[in-house]
Amino acid sequence: MAYDFDLYVIGAGSGGVRAARFASGFGARVAVAESRYLGGTCVNVGCVPKKLLVYGAHYAEDFEQASAYGWSTGEASFDWATLIANKNREINRLNGIYRNLLVNSGVTLHEGHAKVTGPHEVEINGQRHTAEHILIATGGWPVIPDIPGREHAISSNEAFFLKELPKRVLVVGGGYIAVEFAGIFHGMGAQTSLLYRGELFLRGFDGAVRKHLAEELTRRGLELQFNADIQRIDKQADGSLQVTLKDGRILFTDCVFYATGRRPMLDNLGLENTAVTLDEKGFVQVNEKYETQESSILAIGDVIGRVQLTPVALAEGMAVARRLYKPEQYRLVDYRMIPTAVFSLPNIGTVGLTEEQAREEGYEVQIFESRFRPMKLSLTDCQERTLMKLVVDARTDKVLGCHMVGPDAGEIVQGLAIALKAGATKRDFDETIGVHPTAAEEFVTMRTSTA
Ligand SMILES: Cc1cc2nc3c(=O)[nH]c(=O)nc-3n(C[C@H](O)[C@H](O)[C@H](O)COP(=O)(O)OP(=O)(O)OC[C@H]3O[C@@H](n4cnc5c(N)ncnc54)[C@H](O)[C@@H]3O)c2cc1C
Repeated sequence: MAYDFDLYVIGAGSGGVRAARFASGFGARVAVAESRYLGGTCVNVGCVPKKLLVYGAHYAEDFEQASAYGWSTGEASFDWATLIANKNREINRLNGIYRNLLVNSGVTLHEGHAKVTGPHEVEINGQRHTAEHILIATGGWPVIPDIPGREHAISSNEAFFLKELPKRVLVVGGGYIAVEFAGIFHGMGAQTSLLYRGELFLRGFDGAVRKHLAEELTRRGLELQFNADIQRIDKQADGSLQVTLKDGRILFTDCVFYATGRRPMLDNLGLENTAVTLDEKGFVQVNEKYETQESSILAIGDVIGRVQLTPVALAEGMAVARRLYKPEQYRLVDYRMIPTAVFSLPNIGTVGLTEEQAREEGYEVQIFESRFRPMKLSLTDCQERTLMKLVVDARTDKVLGCHMVGPDAGEIVQGLAIALKAGATKRDFDETIGVHPTAAEEFVTMRTSTA
């Protein structure tokens, strides 16, 4: 049967755009549907605007520390509306770049909500299109739990467009988005608390990293409340919010920001018209080739809930395009050694196994750990400390994991990820000459194991 397109991609986010562009470049006839914003979550309400706000928040400490280096800056003041307007302008520019990228690579762009009406058919704006393959790349959506007063809470989607900076913010959640936004609000000058129902935030990160960051955030005046959860939120006559915790305590704030999880975006997608199945958490179920139970329908990115990060969605999109249209270049996505950063202030950078994971997996583990005051702070009163940690397999000398909390940790860990992927040993690290004077050189000068 002759189809209208070889590939119909639903969702022009990180994964969808990558798959569409490359498939088209390999000669396929490709269409992509987008209902909301070109570039998806990452460009519009994720990585990019988030990082811009983190940069904005960072200036607070730069101004504070500048005087130790002889600068007098006068009284610094911050205007949230200016930052948001400039951020919006930049995002608009990026939306235009994404449009050009798609159109210039020969992809047909359909703007509207797409619904799957059969194994080879999609409906959008009242028109039906057929395709040999359909790729679901519809991403995720923040979830606010169903508590009384949930309508008074916001998620990351709204946080990027707040008209003004709230005076007091209560961030709820223990994942990286909660930690990053707590740092953003705190850095901008809002009185910020982070509330998390577990013992300690950032589950899945190395224990030393989690504790170190908690200490650093507390030292900076960000209030951390663990083992705490919200029962209800009530709006007061003056517009502020009264928050009742499950343990009976009452807090007052101006903004409750929930970052407690994201669900796959499947709203009105029409999967019931196909044999596509979902896993126990509601994500689209796929095999290692990203094929669903309906063999003509594939899925990638956050909607399959594997590793919900932009570079992973990009890799999955690329793998689909190559397997279908350039099989000689096809390689499976390698989910090991995915480096990642948390853009908290200070940053976390991490790649490979945590100490806890390494021990659980039965490795005989050697730990190298270093804590020091970054050189840039030596002329200032700031007592912030950087943490660096290596997890090494004592039997083979292979470095299993690198973890850091400190300035530019995200930048530093990218290079380390290459070394770990190439199978570097501790001896390789030791024999590498440091770049002096940097914080990063500490990774090649840790000589004595601490555990
Ligand atoms: C606050 C926040 C911060 C983040 N920070 C980082 C970070 O620093 N680093 C990192 O790597 N990752 C980060 N992420 C995660 C990253 O944004 C996602 O992993 C990534 O965007 C997933 O890409 P995707 O292609 O699966 O989906 P998305 O980028 O979400 O794209 C899906 C697209 O599909 C569209 N769509 C949905 N349904 C339909 C439909 N029926 N018809 C047409 N279009 C539809 C949506 O409008 C959307 O544009 C962050 C996420 C958030 C929320």
